[in-house]
Amino acid sequence: MTARIIDGNALSAKLRGELAAKAAELTAQGTQPCLAVILVGGDPASAVYVRNKVAGCEKAGIKSLKFEYPQEAAPADVLARIAELNADPSVHGILVQLPLPKHLDEKPVIELIGPDKDVDGLHVVNAGRLVAGLPALVACTPTGCLMLAKATLGDLTGKHAVVVGRSLLVGKPVAQLLLAENCTVTMAHSRTVDLPSICRQADILVAAVGQPRMIRGDWIKPGACVIDVGINRVPFDDPEKAAQGKTKIVGDVNYKEALQVAGSITPVPKGVGPMTVAVLLHNTVLAAKRIAGVS
Ligand code: NDP
Repeated sequence: MTARIIDGNALSAKLRGELAAKAAELTAQGTQPCLAVILVGGDPASAVYVRNKVAGCEKAGIKSLKFEYPQEAAPADVLARIAELNADPSVHGILVQLPLPKHLDEKPVIELIGPDKDVDGLHVVNAGRLVAGLPALVACTPTGCLMLAKATLGDLTGKHAVVVGRSLLVGKPVAQLLLAENCTVTMAHSRTVDLPSICRQADILVAAVGQPRMIRGDWIKPGACVIDVGINRVPFDDPEKAAQGKTKIVGDVNYKEALQVAGSITPVPKGVGPMTVAVLLHNTVLAAKRIAGVS
């Protein structure tokens, strides 16, 4: 058996198309969705992520504002900018690109963002709303995982979902989203005893660990849907390329092995990754609709 490959690029493109139509409709009604992005410091990976987010906005007809600060930016300046954006009714989403430089504590920065503009879904109020089953802005990557699982399996009711990883960014919100879809959810982490046998029970296995290829083929239940969130940079398998210092991205799942056992699987790259920016745009449109009072 070879697993069906879940095409994150295709679902992301479909979602972006739908969002562009919704953004155009909102704009015609007098509210152009607007995302403000704050980038502090010169981390090259962060700069690329921000560039992709801004480009994604442009393509979807969402206005974007970019605020860049130097590495040594004073915390008060960043906080003042967030307060200003909170108060600006024409801004619907505020995103602070993480990680921040070491001298800037992330917690007060995130907590200052108005929860209704917290399009990254990291504010404690949105985490609480998610658990309480109230309308929330939910973190982008977990929402993308759920969309991929639903696009592949349809109704998730009664399925046993195992989520490996319990971070605030991925593992915990994914588990809550799956629970809300009536899955039976098991959360696993670094202290879980006999992780392979827990994983083998999963109809839906979400790997959000940060350990390259950790989940082996014989940890997977035949026919399971595997959602691999991991993004890990490793040397090329080819010793010649590896010797040149060349690297590639792999997931948390041993893809080659998993392909032989799973029913469906997200590749890395082109699986979960493309969904993250699409859901950010989705959250921005959602926030704009809620702020403008459009149903
Ligand atoms: P964190 O490091 O915050 O959390 C990792 C989680 O994995 C922790 O809960 C940890 O357990 C658990 N874990 C670590 N080692 C093991 C192990 N050997 N066995 C079982 N559990 C283990 O990572 P994130 O949640 O932020 O990210 C996870 C992965 O997803 C990373 O590869 C990251 O790059 C990727 N990612 C991808 C995104 C995308 O857009 N595709 C977006 C965000 C993240 P414990 O709590 O006990 O320490």
